[in-house]
Amino acid sequence: MENIPTSDFMTTLNNDFRPLFGLNLADHYSERHTVSLVEQLQTTLEIDQLLEIFSMEAAKTVRFCGLTLNFANETVAVRGSIPGRHRICFNITAGGNTLAQLSYSLTEGLTKNAIRQLEKLHQQFGYPLRNALSFHKVKRLALKDALTGLSNRGHFDDSLVQAITHAKRKRSTFAMIMLDLDNFKQVNDAFGHQAGDEVIKEFASILNRSIRGDDSAFRLGGDEFTIIASDQEDCEANVICTRIQHNVATNPIMIKYTVSTSIGYTFFQQNDSVASLYTRTDNALYAAKDFGRNCTKTA
Ligand code: GH3
Ligand code: MG
Repeated sequence: MENIPTSDFMTTLNNDFRPLFGLNLADHYSERHTVSLVEQLQTTLEIDQLLEIFSMEAAKTVRFCGLTLNFANETVAVRGSIPGRHRICFNITAGGNTLAQLSYSLTEGLTKNAIRQLEKLHQQFGYPLRNALSFHKVKRLALKDALTGLSNRGHFDDSLVQAITHAKRKRSTFAMIMLDLDNFKQVNDAFGHQAGDEVIKEFASILNRSIRGDDSAFRLGGDEFTIIASDQEDCEANVICTRIQHNVATNPIMIKYTVSTSIGYTFFQQNDSVASLYTRTDNALYAAKDFGRNCTKTA
């Protein structure tokens, strides 16, 4: 019997696994590798990779076309997942605590025996998943702003360095956009800190709704935010800013507290450093404030 080396096996898991797309890789590997499920699950703390590994093992027991994990308002799906005619959901537990819901999309129902077998696998999944969820939480605390859920200042600093490195290598550009709320202090003063928090959260949600999937929004602190918009042409950055201004101007909470936003943006140039890019964007934002607020300026 031939053993598949662990590294090859992991490569397959990370790159190629597609449950139920004609080829059942799990059958292909069954009995050929000697790595137990628990050992495989111990190789990563990343939830998406853990789920891929688990799905590979579960695919030996049942045929499914989608597998998703739901925990704390987040959903992670196995790559290639599609909806099926049936859906069955299991709680994943460890030490008596429910950690997450695992949901299988199926083309046909499951037998009682298949369910029993899956439940045995779920028991092995519990503790590695608990470790991965703890890791995920710590990572989230380190990278996310607690009030808005946007990425925080530390994450922005790293992302900006990455964006510059990428743009220099590819000889491409990106837009850096800075935003500061206008007249925000009066919200705290007149309506209290909680109302101020509500405005900040709503503005963060407006930003998320106004950018594309490959752009990122960050809260730098207080009422100051920034966006890194990848590979933008001049008009596209302007489109994002116009969309944000429109969404703010028509938002009931922003209207209620008479809050608007000033925006400054600039484009990365090949000779830019973090400092020069930051200064130029900041200058554009100051120009917008100087111009009377509630407008966008570029530099
Ligand atoms: P400008 O138009 O010039 O930007 O003035 P502004 O009134 O918006 O005031 P500024 O940007 O200088 O000050 C931001 C205020 O935001 C100061 C601070 O008290 C308040 N702030 C900072 N962080 C928070 C927060 O997390 N929650 C709340 N409610 N207020 C905050
Ligand atoms: Mg402000």
